[in-house]
Amino acid sequence: MRIANLDDRAALVIGPAGDEKAVDIASVSRGRFASELPAIYPVWDELTAWAGGLDVAALRAEAHTIDRATLGAPSPAPRQVFAAGLNYHAHAAESGLASPTELPPVFTKYVSSFSGPDTVVVLPAGGNVDWEVELVAVIGRDASNIDESAAWSHVAGLTVGQDISERISQLRGPAPQFGLGKSFRGFSPQGPWLITPDEFDTPDDLELGCALDGEEVQKGRTRDLIFPVPKLIAALSRTVTLYPGDVVFTGTPAGVGLGREPQRFIQAGQRLDSWIEGIGELHQTFIADSHLT
Ligand code: ZN
Repeated sequence: MRIANLDDRAALVIGPAGDEKAVDIASVSRGRFASELPAIYPVWDELTAWAGGLDVAALRAEAHTIDRATLGAPSPAPRQVFAAGLNYHAHAAESGLASPTELPPVFTKYVSSFSGPDTVVVLPAGGNVDWEVELVAVIGRDASNIDESAAWSHVAGLTVGQDISERISQLRGPAPQFGLGKSFRGFSPQGPWLITPDEFDTPDDLELGCALDGEEVQKGRTRDLIFPVPKLIAALSRTVTLYPGDVVFTGTPAGVGLGREPQRFIQAGQRLDSWIEGIGELHQTFIADSHLT
């Protein structure tokens, strides 16, 4: 099952990759399910059971073309957002830091930084803005002290995320400011839609990457995650309760601008394309902050 946020309404995505169409869940279910995305995740099991019984061929008649400009983040108002750092060995190495053993460093990206997949992002004046393509998991069931073996059943689905990061404010002392440095407006694009784990042959091994102005700068596979999705969610659930709709950024592979020699950061006018195999793409273009004084 694929779920999209179309104009702030939950939509079911049907059709083959490259020719996706959408139907409105509230309409097709005749109001059984609410139109708002945040209302969908607490009833995720009922939604998937209902969707599994639909006659998809019959739905095609009322399906409409997806205007990507109207897509929002699949879970636009989660109660909690978690992001893992240093979750790939090669990225820890390029950051000059040891790989985590007990738990990766965990921080948050504030929800006000969320957006859909295709956006224009303002570069903060004087900042060093960097790219971090990441697999994002959205929670579908309360998860508290869960076992790794049960973790996938607590995941509603997977989507593509960019953990766009302004490195100066992120790393400025006296202590790092990951939350704010990674939460400027538009710094958490996600999408294009959410895909349930059962849609993948192996949800634990997906290729992900991103390109700046067409030049590939990151390429990795999620099988190289130090804490793969089940291990990460189980580990988080030993401290916190994860709620339906919660968003988990799982960490970025090697190739960020900060870890390069010389370092590279995004310039006004550049375009960042991010993808994950079997999910889809994000497209960001960057413009200068026009509020310079
Ligand atoms: Zn990250």
